[in-house]
Amino acid sequence: MSKTVTRIEEPKYASRKRVAAYCRVSTNHEAQLESLENQIETFRFRAAQRGDWDLKNVYVDEGLSGTSVKGRVQFQQMIEDCKAGEIDYIVTKSISRFARNTVDTLSTVRELQSYGVQVFFEKEGIDTADALSEMVLTIMASFAQEESRSISENVKWGIRKRFEAGNEVKVPLYGFYHSDDEMFLIQKEEAAVVKEIFERFVHGEAPLDIMNDMTARGIKPPAGKCWKRLQIDRMIKNEKYAGDVVMQKTYIENHLTHRQIRNHGALPKFHVKNAHEAIVDRHIFDQAQKIMAMRNVAVGNSTYPYGEMLKCPHCGKPLVHGSLNNFYYNGERIQNGGWGCYGEGGCGGYLIIQNVLDEAMVKAYEEKYGEKKETVEFYWLDDTMETILLNEEQVTIHWCDGDTKVSQLDFSEERYCPSRYSVFYNDYLDRIRCGVKKNKYKFLMGLALSSAHAG
Ligand SMILES: [Zn+2]
Repeated sequence: MSKTVTRIEEPKYASRKRVAAYCRVSTNHEAQLESLENQIETFRFRAAQRGDWDLKNVYVDEGLSGTSVKGRVQFQQMIEDCKAGEIDYIVTKSISRFARNTVDTLSTVRELQSYGVQVFFEKEGIDTADALSEMVLTIMASFAQEESRSISENVKWGIRKRFEAGNEVKVPLYGFYHSDDEMFLIQKEEAAVVKEIFERFVHGEAPLDIMNDMTARGIKPPAGKCWKRLQIDRMIKNEKYAGDVVMQKTYIENHLTHRQIRNHGALPKFHVKNAHEAIVDRHIFDQAQKIMAMRNVAVGNSTYPYGEMLKCPHCGKPLVHGSLNNFYYNGERIQNGGWGCYGEGGCGGYLIIQNVLDEAMVKAYEEKYGEKKETVEFYWLDDTMETILLNEEQVTIHWCDGDTKVSQLDFSEERYCPSRYSVFYNDYLDRIRCGVKKNKYKFLMGLALSSAHAG
């Protein structure tokens, strides 16, 4: 037996439409107020002419300089009354009087339609109830999408609608709360925690240490009883803390399955900047993203804190960090890092001991800014240094402010402990001069395995 599908039509209001008129003037100027009187009179006249109109109310917002929906008390009252089912039809003079822009107009119209209310724009002759006008509105919507500012408005509206419709997760993101009509309002106590986590992370603290400290201090985590590593990672990666929204990170497969799928490029993603108030300063947020990438050992060795700032003086390839854990010198295990030209396509002809390099950086910074740094961290390198050029004897720093500083690298045994590093280093330089295979050092740096994976 074949199934028949019949569309259920909404019952038409048999008799009269309950009509509301909306008027707005933007200033207190007499001429404007006069025009307001005219608007109201026109509506009364029109209603009297038409037998099927029952003019329920005239909503007037006057003398307001601001155009945001929030400031328009009567407008909001009208929407509330529509929501309560008291009105069937709204008459207004023009689109510009109704809302501040196309997007607002559309969003309001859509909202009203969801309550079964249609709108008539007198000047434009658009009645949202008829099909042709619906098309005009759709065209207007496509124009609206061209404006980036409007897209942001659309996003906020879209999020709010999804939220209202129950599609969006109702539990707000840690650090934020939702009000009835706004999302991503800052929750002060949680926001302070978020801020602290970002700052500590950017200042070089490991996520694990931050996490343990949070738990020890009894600070409530976003979920569960104690902080988890994943929560910290997710927090640091979340663009909403910088005030942005990335749209379509996930999407619903189709209307039948309602399965949520992560968007890996099947649909476009939109990054909307400054969609709401930020918790974290954008500069700190950006640095945190870079650090996150440097610490991502899944794609190879950690390149923290220098990232790609260090280049091989011989072939120009970025230096990679190795632990040198496998190196024994005179039966003693050397446990420290080095930066060498052992990445993809590297010539293998350069290596610098981490201690020597770090010490040179701290010293240069102290000489320039009169402040002693305990450790080398990405945030201050990134804030102050444009490039770091190395060779066997010296380091050249091009500072962000335009200064250049050349200093000798100090390999003397007294300058750093333990002295076996310098022995190792000098030995290494000798071997390079003699043309000893570079792969040996690749292995010593613990890099052989990871670069084999990288191809
Ligand atoms: Zn090289």
